[in-house]
Amino acid sequence: MNELAGKKALILGVANERSIAWGIARELSQAGAHVILSYQNENLLKRVAPLAQEIGAELFLCDVLNSENLKALFAQLGELDILVHSIAYANTQSLSRPLHEVLRADFNLAFESSVFSLIELSHEAALLMKKGGSILTLSYIGADRVVPGYGLMGPVKAALECSVRYLAHELGPLGIRVNAISAGPLRTLSSAAFGQIKQAIKEVETHAPLRQNISTKDIGNLAVFLSSDKATMISGETIFVDSGLHIMS
Ligand code: NAD
Repeated sequence: MNELAGKKALILGVANERSIAWGIARELSQAGAHVILSYQNENLLKRVAPLAQEIGAELFLCDVLNSENLKALFAQLGELDILVHSIAYANTQSLSRPLHEVLRADFNLAFESSVFSLIELSHEAALLMKKGGSILTLSYIGADRVVPGYGLMGPVKAALECSVRYLAHELGPLGIRVNAISAGPLRTLSSAAFGQIKQAIKEVETHAPLRQNISTKDIGNLAVFLSSDKATMISGETIFVDSGLHIMS
């Protein structure tokens, strides 16, 4: 199927082959999209460059905490149809604390990296989405209910999902749809900092209706659908890809 043929996609958040962003990049590329990847810093380049090569993607540096960096990236893109924001950050020390002990600076850093980055990227992307477009971000069930050990990232993801709805409202008149994918737990570089990842995966395997954990391909498949013309009337949503775990109490 070539449902994304002729579409240009910018995907931020590939760190290595386990990254959710990489699963999305592979599926979008297979669906015919022209993919552009970004990497956060030079340390990650040696991991990301071979992946970009594998799908023939262009590769640009972008640290989302650096607005100059971000503007320089968008200045090189031309028109854009799809933006995928698969970025989150909180320092490890703040993740191991209960929420009420998190320091102001750590909260601000997590919020800026994981939520404001979507807002700023959406602003820049909208300027290039002349024929409308699709913006996607990644969330987790810790936004809706208490997941022990997820701490600071719970309120951060709740703010992310709320931002999706406001962005969808504001950008809808331009034909731009904004959605979040709430993914089940996966072992990645980021999730290693979440102390309970092993238990979270086990819970999906034993309690979710489908009794098996998801893969980055499952997330990529939904990203293809949401970015395609088959989803033209879907915006402001958070859609779960979690084997159905979210319906369980
Ligand atoms: P990952 O570590 O592979 O990806 C996180 C990415 O964020 C990395 O590529 C990192 O370079 C990037 N990043 C962080 N700060 C940045 C900055 N300042 N500038 C540019 N890039 C920056 O981990 P992942 O699990 O693939 O995470 C991707 C998204 O999926 C995150 O939003 C995460 O919260 C979400 N998510 C993950 C899981 C899971 O269990 N792994 C579940 C649900 C949602």
